[in-house]
Amino acid sequence: MALRSIVKFGSPELDTPSVEIKDFSDDLEPLVQDMVQTMYAAPGVGLAAPQIGLNTRLMVIDITVGEDPKQLIVMANPVMLEKEGEQREEEGCLSVPGYAGVVQRPEWVKVQGQDLKGNEVTMEGTGLLARAFCHEIDHLDGKLFIEHLGMLKRDLIKRKIKKRIRQGDW
Ligand SMILES: [Zn+2]
Repeated sequence: MALRSIVKFGSPELDTPSVEIKDFSDDLEPLVQDMVQTMYAAPGVGLAAPQIGLNTRLMVIDITVGEDPKQLIVMANPVMLEKEGEQREEEGCLSVPGYAGVVQRPEWVKVQGQDLKGNEVTMEGTGLLARAFCHEIDHLDGKLFIEHLGMLKRDLIKRKIKKRIRQGDW
């Protein structure tokens, strides 16, 4: 088990749509363990494989950040089946540390995906969990939360980060 480095805004993996996992005969468990430990250490409520530089459709979510191990969700190839309502809350991302913005998300979602053996699983989430599902699936589609912000706020954050990248401070 090892902590992985979390890639940040500017890394090409974060802009690249990830590839579906087709072969479940590979042991995904060690990779998932690394992702879970990396998420808890950050700490964060979710982590998608592109954030550790792997463009594969795998995500982990735990809105209790390890407080309640039963809440840990590991899902491959997640797809949004249904969504309802809306919520507007401040959202951030481990790959965009230090920046946050209010993002509108559905209040409730139903997601279908696969467990580590390739079995189909369906899950529902409300509130923060619904937000986490949306945020991590966005990562698998090569999209960051800042793309949901208003143009001014988004451009301001991007400009600040690009300046920090130029200064070697990112
Ligand atoms: Zn994120």
